[in-house]
Amino acid sequence: MNRRYRKTIIAGNWKMNKTASETKQFAEELKAIMPKAKWCDVLVCVPSVNIPTAMRAFKDMRVSVGAENVFYEKSGAYTGEVSADMLKDLGVKYVIIGHSERRQYFGETDITVNKKVHAALEAGLHPIICVGESLEQRELGVTMDLISLQVKSALAGVSSDKLRKCVIAYEPVWAIGTGKTATPEQAGEVCTFIRATIRHMYGARIARSITIQYGGSMNPGNAAELLAQPDIDGGLIGGAALKSDQFVDIINAANQE
Ligand code: PEP
Repeated sequence: MNRRYRKTIIAGNWKMNKTASETKQFAEELKAIMPKAKWCDVLVCVPSVNIPTAMRAFKDMRVSVGAENVFYEKSGAYTGEVSADMLKDLGVKYVIIGHSERRQYFGETDITVNKKVHAALEAGLHPIICVGESLEQRELGVTMDLISLQVKSALAGVSSDKLRKCVIAYEPVWAIGTGKTATPEQAGEVCTFIRATIRHMYGARIARSITIQYGGSMNPGNAAELLAQPDIDGGLIGGAALKSDQFVDIINAANQE
């Protein structure tokens, strides 16, 4: 983390978990134990159908509500999809784009990720852009090539001004939901590389200000070590964000003065 130049953001990704009633219950549990998160922003990304419930439930806490996906068209005959304007109108601030599960199961590509990034920015949302390699790609030694391609494709045509609203999440696919975490050095190395890629594209000042999260089995036991890496500015957390006590432990790890 480097709080002098950029925000630390702890974000939960609930995926397809929790009903509206369970969302309310989680918020109540969290309220009872939530620390004053002075040094980091806290965010919970929930299934879109539960966004209004989450907005109400987290209203009195300093917890933002985010979305897990968005479609890139503004409106029209796209049955089942949700637009960026719809999310914005509900009060959503952040939206996850290009999560590996969407790439794997729903045909998300670098091209659709780029279109979604533009749609989100146009609506005034902050995209959390996920990038990450598979185990095979890591073993082939092409991690950095792939990350470079994903970052450059996602940000194609994004102006410097708009880039300031983006968050990048480095999520090695082999570490998501598997219990296998990247070592702090592995995660730190890729996050440093992502910042260097952005530096080449946009210059040092902007690169310095961008929040880069790590995601992949982050939990209360490994969060502090991962967050101690200079280019890891927070976490995108799946499993451990579903339990209020574990989520709070991670927030505490990021909230050290
Ligand atoms: C994620 O869904 O982005 C994620 C990192 O999941 P988990 O923490 O469960 O690995």
